[in-house]
Amino acid sequence: MSTLLGKVAFITGAGSGIGRGTAERLAREGADVCILDLDEEGAELTANLVTQVGRRAHVVRANVASAAHLQKAAAECVEQLGGLDIAVANAGIARGGPVLELSQKDWQDQLDVNLTGVFLTVQAAAQQMVKLARPGRIICISSLAAENTGAGIWAYSATKAGVRMMVRGWAQELGPAGITVNAIGPGVIETPLAQGLAGEAGGAIRTGLESRTPVGRVGTPADIAGLVNFLAGPDGEFMSGAYLLMDGGLRDASPGWEADESAMEERMRHMAAGEERRRKMQPFLDDRD
Ligand code: NAP
Repeated sequence: MSTLLGKVAFITGAGSGIGRGTAERLAREGADVCILDLDEEGAELTANLVTQVGRRAHVVRANVASAAHLQKAAAECVEQLGGLDIAVANAGIARGGPVLELSQKDWQDQLDVNLTGVFLTVQAAAQQMVKLARPGRIICISSLAAENTGAGIWAYSATKAGVRMMVRGWAQELGPAGITVNAIGPGVIETPLAQGLAGEAGGAIRTGLESRTPVGRVGTPADIAGLVNFLAGPDGEFMSGAYLLMDGGLRDASPGWEADESAMEERMRHMAAGEERRRKMQPFLDDRD
């Protein structure tokens, strides 16, 4: 059944991971998709997945940390695809580090993308929804890290906890306009961003994680996309201001695997790959005009 036929979805960070999985799923449910990302190549790959299932795709290269980029992107979504019914504020980055070392630049970039970027996305999308006078669904991607934190991850946690609270206020403000606003808290999901946490199949990190997680596996973008689809579709109509954790039960599992030596070695390798990706992306992140 095509539950989203005739709807248009606007998804940030849709060139990779959870955003790509969500674009693919919503397209399979009938939605046309506006794909926003810093990474144009990744965004084009996502667009191919959308068009392969017979839906229209529009790619916008934009930085969610820029109000000008978001305003232009949301307007383009309406011009090119004829509406904006579902907005998924998904783009995010992870900049970890101990309090004695984390640079102000890393702290600020993370605030700019994970908090300001979500605010600017929701503002631009909601303005279009109100202008079009059509009911809307807004879904913001928070994290399990909004409720669990620890050494090196507290800065990321602060941004994700902020998203949880913003969503509750926005649900109050936008409800009268027919717009619901909810947050999802993914646990460890297999994507480039979480490679250091999710590890690789058969590796020490993954094996430890699988044994700790009650459902016995790591999450996939398709898991989170299914929850976005619920919130965006007819069954999600009565839900607003909620935070839905989807982590396979990991939140309440006892720690332990982090100390394993081979897991540490594997994590260092994934972190080095993450650094490389970050170096390539930084000039685009600094561009806000
Ligand atoms: P991902 O695979 O790295 O995808 C994120 C996408 O967002 C990338 O294509 C990235 O582009 C893009 N992006 C980053 N900064 C941007 C900006 N300023 N403007 C526009 N696009 C930007 O990560 P993911 O795991 O799918 O993460 C998606 C969301 O889920 C994030 O908010 C993340 O915090 C959250 N989350 C993830 C997990 C997990 O375990 N994976 C768990 C909890 C929450 P580049 O490739 O150029 O960087």
